[in-house]
Amino acid sequence: MQKKITVIGAGLAGCEAAWQIASQEIDVDLYEMRPRVSTGAHQTALPAELVCSNSLGSALADRATGVLQQELRTLRSLLIHCADDSRVPAGGALAVDRERFSQQIAKQLDAHPHIRIIREEVVDLPSDGMVVLATGPLTSPAMSDALCRATGEQHLFFFDALAPIVSRESIDFTVAFEASRYGRGEQAAGDYINCPLNREEYQRFISELVTAERIPPRAFEMEIETGVQAGDARYFESCLPIEVLAQRGEESLAFGPMRPVGLTDPRSGRRPHAVLQLRQDNLAASLYNLVGFQTNLKYGEQQRIFRMIPGLQNAEFIRYGHMHRNTFLAAPRLLRPSLEARFHDRLFVAGQLCGIEGYAGNIGSGLIAGQNAARHLRGLPPLRLPRTTMLGCLIHYITHIDMATFQPMKANFGIMPALEGPPLKGKRQRAAAYAERAARDLGAYVTECRKD
Ligand SMILES: Cc1cc2nc3c(=O)[nH]c(=O)nc-3n(C[C@H](O)[C@H](O)[C@H](O)COP(=O)(O)OP(=O)(O)OC[C@H]3O[C@@H](n4cnc5c(N)ncnc54)[C@H](O)[C@@H]3O)c2cc1C
Repeated sequence: MQKKITVIGAGLAGCEAAWQIASQEIDVDLYEMRPRVSTGAHQTALPAELVCSNSLGSALADRATGVLQQELRTLRSLLIHCADDSRVPAGGALAVDRERFSQQIAKQLDAHPHIRIIREEVVDLPSDGMVVLATGPLTSPAMSDALCRATGEQHLFFFDALAPIVSRESIDFTVAFEASRYGRGEQAAGDYINCPLNREEYQRFISELVTAERIPPRAFEMEIETGVQAGDARYFESCLPIEVLAQRGEESLAFGPMRPVGLTDPRSGRRPHAVLQLRQDNLAASLYNLVGFQTNLKYGEQQRIFRMIPGLQNAEFIRYGHMHRNTFLAAPRLLRPSLEARFHDRLFVAGQLCGIEGYAGNIGSGLIAGQNAARHLRGLPPLRLPRTTMLGCLIHYITHIDMATFQPMKANFGIMPALEGPPLKGKRQRAAAYAERAARDLGAYVTECRKD
């Protein structure tokens, strides 16, 4: 029996997949092209680098990402363990010190006797042996071409954007204040830095934002298959650049990423018209990211316009926002519910490439693809998590949804099977019931599988 599996891409999904395979005492060759070949968004050579936000989503037990994170703990995910270990305060969210998070993972992978990391770009799908492909939304062009050839179709892509990061010491705290929405934070002072805007400040900001100069899309990014049209480009709806969102209506930011609900400006004692929130980005609390401020403005314009926000007039930009292509396969047509490819023998696909959106979901798909590749090798049936679990439901969704409406999906209660019994009235009550059912069903499933 072959005792080795190749994992391509040491991102969130690939690292988790490699760990799950190696935990079954099967050798793993884990290929990663960085730092030799860059993706344009990653900035280090570290595994499982978080390219944008440092948050894995709400950790609250009755929120979709909270349920998913708990499932990852139940399934013994390495990456969720490392996330818990590098956690920084962020209200109810599981946010991490991104460098510590990746370093913890690197340490575990390096030390594992069954894992060998190979720093090389893989330019074609291997013709033999078991493979987990986890090259992510920024899959290298050579591998994208190989996938086109193997699937016989254009795979899909659209635009996605990153938010800027500023240094804490450059923020003016005579204006900005620390607080968590509704006082829900972990730190007494509050977990977020908030920059309040009154109506006039907000209107001036919006009028400059919508007319600011943007970075034009590159030629290869214009060959677009799907997405939300805006000007010359198409974007993923849940990651729209702030300037595109602002074009939808003057108040769209005040009701979206700049909503002021649950926040009181200590200087006025009132709720501001709009608020920019900044979230801690590293354990040292020296860096903060502009929450929801993904952007594709030219760098000079970012500086000019974001410095109009009260409290950021002297902001030092450590990283500017920018935009990227986002690649994913037509999963409903091309993948089985085990995450095994229909178009290539002994190939499993994980991460954003299989159409799951969000850090926690990508870790989860890596976990299942890794487990299933190993189980295939051991002659065991694949894991099929109950659809009532968040991870099981996500995988079911991407492998069964109508292709006409398919877009990467993140954890949410809306895709879960309806609850049994009489309808529950409150949203929170329903969420708690979904969470409880998911935990119960996953617990029972795991007990059953451990008999294998
Ligand atoms: C610009 C951008 C911003 C995002 N922001 C967020 C966010 O804020 N929050 C969120 O929840 N999700 C975000 N996502 C979505 C997604 O959750 C992340 O991209 C996540 O990292 C995907 O995990 P992955 O394992 O699929 O890919 P990645 O983590 O990107 O890992 C893929 C790895 O494969 C390597 N690779 C690529 N091609 C090859 C090759 N041919 N050979 C060898 N190695 C290769 C890459 O270098 C990379 O290390 C964002 C996506 C993009 C594109």
